[in-house]
Amino acid sequence: MQKDKGATTKAPLHVLIIGGGVGGLCLAQGLKQSGISVAVYERDRSVHFRSQGYRIHINPDGSQALHDCLPENLFNLFVATSGLPATGRLANYDSQLRELDSRPLHQVVADSPFTLSTEVNRLTLREVLLAGLDDIVHFGKTLERFEHVGAGVVRASFADGASAEGDVLIGADGTHSVTRQLLLPEARVSEVGFALYGKTPLTPEAMEWIPENVLKGFSRVADPSGVAMLDYGFAAVKNSIEQPLLGFRTLGEAHRPH
Ligand SMILES: Cc1cc2nc3c(=O)[nH]c(=O)nc-3n(C[C@H](O)[C@H](O)[C@H](O)COP(=O)(O)OP(=O)(O)OC[C@H]3O[C@@H](n4cnc5c(N)ncnc54)[C@H](O)[C@@H]3O)c2cc1C
Repeated sequence: MQKDKGATTKAPLHVLIIGGGVGGLCLAQGLKQSGISVAVYERDRSVHFRSQGYRIHINPDGSQALHDCLPENLFNLFVATSGLPATGRLANYDSQLRELDSRPLHQVVADSPFTLSTEVNRLTLREVLLAGLDDIVHFGKTLERFEHVGAGVVRASFADGASAEGDVLIGADGTHSVTRQLLLPEARVSEVGFALYGKTPLTPEAMEWIPENVLKGFSRVADPSGVAMLDYGFAAVKNSIEQPLLGFRTLGEAHRPH
């Protein structure tokens, strides 16, 4: 791999971002918009290398950040591919799907078109974030270590033997960040319990027994032991033929809806 710093002619600052997930790509878009030289190094071999999950909630701060970082056409694409608004209630069910209680969902009202609270398909969002970054994102680059190599220069070394140099190195490599482990080896990830996720195809048979609110609102289904499943029926993505159900399974209080 060529050293990216040498190729930088327009901007004095060259930023290396480790990890091409939601955070790393959004930051790369923002830096590019600001005219700052940036390169992203992503462990995955390609955007389609692994499933990215299927939905992620974007709150108003997230929407605002996307608006600030993305060019207008990509922000509009994010909005166009985001989820439908919830029209149901916040409801509790027993394990036989009998409704125990319900109340109106707290609706986050956007105070501008840029502060949506919405659901998006993770892969679609990643594709939106990757648009226009062909020369910036380098797939198949797993960070192994970094070191300072002279006045203000940091060198990142990858598992395939390649390296890249820049002025700033940013770790956007997720929960088990290698960057963090190298920089802060004493830091520990706080476990918050376990959760299982899944989605259920909405076949005609399933539609016969799934309560309407499970499709349109936010529902918690719990058995007497406290094992619970939360579902976000409103996570449907516009123009999608699939309306996924999302389940959390947990024994902890932390996941109970407020
Ligand atoms: C099931 C589930 C549901 C969630 N739902 C929500 C939600 O609704 N809303 C929300 O805000 N958050 C949600 N989260 C959390 C959300 O996924 C994270 O907050 C978000 O993905 C963090 O983005 P990130 O860019 O920091 O890291 P990630 O999206 O994890 O991206 C990190 C990237 O770094 C790459 N990488 C890792 N190690 C290396 C390395 N050594 N070298 C190079 N690249 C590397 C990875 O391949 C990955 O592409 C959810 C998480 C899970 C597991």
